[in-house]
Amino acid sequence: MKWASRIGTFAGISVYVHATFLLLIIWIGVSYWRAEQSIPAVVSGIVFILALFGCVVLHEFGHALTARRYGIRTRDITLFPIGGVARLERMPDDPRQELLVAVAGPAVNVVIAALLFVVLAMSGTFAGFDQLSVARGSFLERLMLVNIWLVVFNLIPAFPMDGGRMLRAALAMRMDYARATRSAANLGQGIALLFGLVGLMGNPFLVFIALFVWIGAAQESAATQMKFALSGTPLTRAMMTVFRTLSVHDTLGAAVSALLAGSQQDFPVLDDGRVVGVLTRTDLLAALAREGDGTPVTSVMQRAFIAADPSEMLDTVFERLQACTCRTVPVVRGGQLVGLVTMENVGEFVSVQAALGATRRAQG
Ligand SMILES: [Zn+2]
Repeated sequence: MKWASRIGTFAGISVYVHATFLLLIIWIGVSYWRAEQSIPAVVSGIVFILALFGCVVLHEFGHALTARRYGIRTRDITLFPIGGVARLERMPDDPRQELLVAVAGPAVNVVIAALLFVVLAMSGTFAGFDQLSVARGSFLERLMLVNIWLVVFNLIPAFPMDGGRMLRAALAMRMDYARATRSAANLGQGIALLFGLVGLMGNPFLVFIALFVWIGAAQESAATQMKFALSGTPLTRAMMTVFRTLSVHDTLGAAVSALLAGSQQDFPVLDDGRVVGVLTRTDLLAALAREGDGTPVTSVMQRAFIAADPSEMLDTVFERLQACTCRTVPVVRGGQLVGLVTMENVGEFVSVQAALGATRRAQG
């Protein structure tokens, strides 16, 4: 990820800190300096924030390590000023597993809060729950309070909070996944509206959370519809079979003609029917500006490209398309080119499926 630097790798998962996190630290430091004008106050304020984010990292590891039990890897964990994000390769398909993965995060904070409570109670320094406040109290008391707060915040039943995933998983045990997601997303956006309204009466932080929840719900709903439309579909049903190719003997001039003749952006380059590279529109234009149109395509094309096999399913190829920086994946059988998959044509396929689904609903 851009603008993020790695702070370490634990249990095989790299943890990154986003550059904006530094702003939070500076902001905390400055506000403590303004309030107390002493270096120890600034240091303790920053140490507290770091301890809080330590708890957030443990929360994310709760998700990641539970997912690992179901064979799902985590690409990385990144800390943003508003919280942590564990990028799981995928969500479990079994709703019961998704529920456990979602619960594991807040469960970690419950355990931390309980441990801190035991330590406080045993040391006899606990002032009582009615005395708890983030503004005063001992370091451990405040840390316990923020962990309780993390649990409550994450249990709000709205995406992208864990509560939203738990709700979806619970619903998915009774109905299909897409419908469960729509219902959970609708409820999430209802909650966002409520937060926004209450926030407008004097709490700007709630308005911020409302926006965050609203966007999260919309994204989750769209991503699930996409996944739902693609899973179980053979690649061959959605790939492009009418397209132009270039030969290894072609020059960039020929590629320009092909680019202008249609709406295709990337071109497979063939040598005797075998795909040896892909010439992308971006590379073509850059090379034209640099070298002119007499250059052979072979000196500009990408030789290391991602290919798919016609026996694959559309959702796995789509995941690969999203992960790579490429826009076009050639479909190759025994070295011979049989089709192309692009982001645009997957998008078209989803639109067609959605339209067909609407007809079916209208008829049934
Ligand atoms: Zn979580």
